[in-house]
Amino acid sequence: MSHRPGRNHLFVPGPTNVPDRVQRAMVVAMEDHRSSKFPELPTHLFAELKKVFKTHHGQAFIFPSSGTGGWEAALTNTLSPGDKVLASRFGQFSHLWIDLARRIGLNVQVLEETWGTGASPENIGKVLSADTKHEIKGVMVVHNETATGVTSDVAAVRKAMDAAKHPALLYVDGISSIASLDFRMDEWGVDLAIAGSQKGFMLPAGICMVGASAKALEKRKEAKCTRVYFDFEDMIKANATGYFPYTPALPMLYGLKESLAILHEEGLDNVFARHHRLAEGVRAAVKGWGLTLCAKDPKWYSDTVSAVMVPQGFNGAHVIDVAYRRYYLALGAGLSEVAGKLFRIGHLGDMNEVSLLGALGGVEMAMLDVGIQITPGSGVGAAVEYYRSHNPIAKDAMMPRP
Ligand SMILES: *Cc1c(COP(=O)(O)O)cnc(C)c1O
Repeated sequence: MSHRPGRNHLFVPGPTNVPDRVQRAMVVAMEDHRSSKFPELPTHLFAELKKVFKTHHGQAFIFPSSGTGGWEAALTNTLSPGDKVLASRFGQFSHLWIDLARRIGLNVQVLEETWGTGASPENIGKVLSADTKHEIKGVMVVHNETATGVTSDVAAVRKAMDAAKHPALLYVDGISSIASLDFRMDEWGVDLAIAGSQKGFMLPAGICMVGASAKALEKRKEAKCTRVYFDFEDMIKANATGYFPYTPALPMLYGLKESLAILHEEGLDNVFARHHRLAEGVRAAVKGWGLTLCAKDPKWYSDTVSAVMVPQGFNGAHVIDVAYRRYYLALGAGLSEVAGKLFRIGHLGDMNEVSLLGALGGVEMAMLDVGIQITPGSGVGAAVEYYRSHNPIAKDAMMPRP
């Protein structure tokens, strides 16, 4: 394809835009990962990662893989073939994690929830209360279901587990939530937390970060699932002195150092507040268009991705194709059960109001092009009003001084 002027407007919910600072930090000469100086870098990264996971008691691991490898690492290091786990399914990512769990030999009991809703603490609590022999070894929850734009209440799941006095480990896929949405590993009693580099961490795909609680680390001693590349044991030994058991992806580590610095400079609470503000503007736009989200109720709304339902008779894939080919705007597709029924706008990572307004304008053009009857400006205008009235810098402070 010939050159396309202007920037590629990337609004898929991963990979997300990589800040210039992070890109530059990744351009490094290769170095000896066995040198006496090398441990400074991993040691710093593990300490900073624990702050993002919000764990004092747990350990943070970095594996060279996409998020899917983190799913596998979390399960294989703590479970044995045939072990029973309980998982809620309400979107393509929860579905794929269940599929992975089955393929490594786990016995998965699935709680089917309507797509557009999330994990039900009530349903999980009921199953756990009935499991008096404690045959269920783990509960798997996708914190933010990227396929439907739904965020589940992990704290409420933990409460339900505690109310049932059940000892199962809590496994949380935080791939599209950690570093963008409030996440508290220790406080919520999360035993295995999985993050990926190409979402809130604003990096290319290539590393996953796994947080493991003390209880989870203890379980590895009896867990019999086959694991080699993703073995916690090898990592623990090498990481103890600041090394890795195999050659680390150096540019990714330097990029992670920079992205952690960026998150720290903004402050995690401000990061979460910004994601909420950006998401609210997108939701105002959706309302302005007269359309609805896949998320069925405000309590499920995701602050990192919005899945917008297209009206009956239209195909979301068509909107996405027109947006990309005519306007160089990349949107997320509807996956599996919701294929064609929606398109997704990712609003996580290195993102701000004006960038998002560009995306919303592109979405309006693409929807109009395929014949969806919306009023031009109806969504953009609603977002403009929302962002103007919710900027953290007071408008009066910006008035010209006499
Ligand atoms: C992106 C994503 C994954 C998959 O991660 P990969 O990096 O593509 O392996 C899993 N779960 C959720 C919630 C995601 O958003």
